[in-house]
Amino acid sequence: MPLTCLGIEGTAHSFGAGVVSDQGKVLSNVWDMLSPQEGGIHPREASRHHSDKGPDIIAKALTEAGIGPHDITLIAFSRGPGLGPCLRATATMARSLALKLEVPLVGVNHCVAHIEIGCLESGFKDPVTVYVSGGNTQVIAFAGNRFRTFGETLDIAIGNMLDVFGRTMGMRFPAGPAIEQEAMKGHRYYSLPYSVKGMDVSYSGMLTAARRLQTEHIPLPDLCFSIQETAFGMLAEVAERAIAHTKKGEVLLTGGVARNRRLGEILAGVAARHNARFHTVTPPLAGDQGAMIAWTGILQYTAGDRLSVAESYVLPKWRTDEQDITWRNLS
Ligand code: AMP
Ligand code: MG
Repeated sequence: MPLTCLGIEGTAHSFGAGVVSDQGKVLSNVWDMLSPQEGGIHPREASRHHSDKGPDIIAKALTEAGIGPHDITLIAFSRGPGLGPCLRATATMARSLALKLEVPLVGVNHCVAHIEIGCLESGFKDPVTVYVSGGNTQVIAFAGNRFRTFGETLDIAIGNMLDVFGRTMGMRFPAGPAIEQEAMKGHRYYSLPYSVKGMDVSYSGMLTAARRLQTEHIPLPDLCFSIQETAFGMLAEVAERAIAHTKKGEVLLTGGVARNRRLGEILAGVAARHNARFHTVTPPLAGDQGAMIAWTGILQYTAGDRLSVAESYVLPKWRTDEQDITWRNLS
């Protein structure tokens, strides 16, 4: 029987619903992001956003896909990692729908979904993935049945660093796009702490230093330019070592921060030096959305994965490398 999967995403600030076929066709992908007037994201407010907006977003995803509830043959939801209250609100909707429609349920790892939607879009089979978002910063490659984390942030995620810096400057959440615009106008580089430790990166030191520089009346474009060059340079170094070590011929850039064109340009250069193909996930599939959950749900279900409602508790700290990837036949 052909599969039509409804994927529900709600690990953090965004709630999304997407419908994907087992042919890998994205039939719809609808989302809404909580963007407070000031301050950051409070987990309780985000979960309220998800429960308030979720049903309408799901209904819209079905309408846009041109299907009714009874055409859904599978429900996938983001089981973790993420903020507990947000995950629970999302899981509750997924469970109720699976019970009501009498269709199977699968729980998807959010980070794995960012990789799989990138592979679907690019046709890549086995990339080194640079996954950068508001909550995660990881360089990942597949080895021994798992997506192994070759390097990651030791403290805050790159998107979080950009958002917190932006908040200091009075920019609204999420600040990444505004920082990118400012950086395009900057040209003078101010030195910031460049912190690569082994294969890991650290962003909290450069955030503190950037905030200090800001009080010295350095032009905002130059400051944004310096932040981007330093932060992206650190990622490029780790990614380059992962590519050299694994000798993989594909490099994938995914996650919300993948929308940044300068980051794409830098990593494209790294990939080219190693004769690797490069792909940046297109903006609609870069951030947190339901289509990536639906597609990964299809891959898991096809490989035999099932999750009973009774067992479908959420996993707020579920790491990328804690899941056996049963649907890939690489070693
Ligand atoms: P996600 O957590 O995957 O939904 O991604 C959201 C994160 O991506 C936030 O931290 C944003 O600031 C960041 N982001 C979005 N667009 C850009 C951009 N053009 N440049 C840098 N960061 C961005
Ligand atoms: Mg994400």
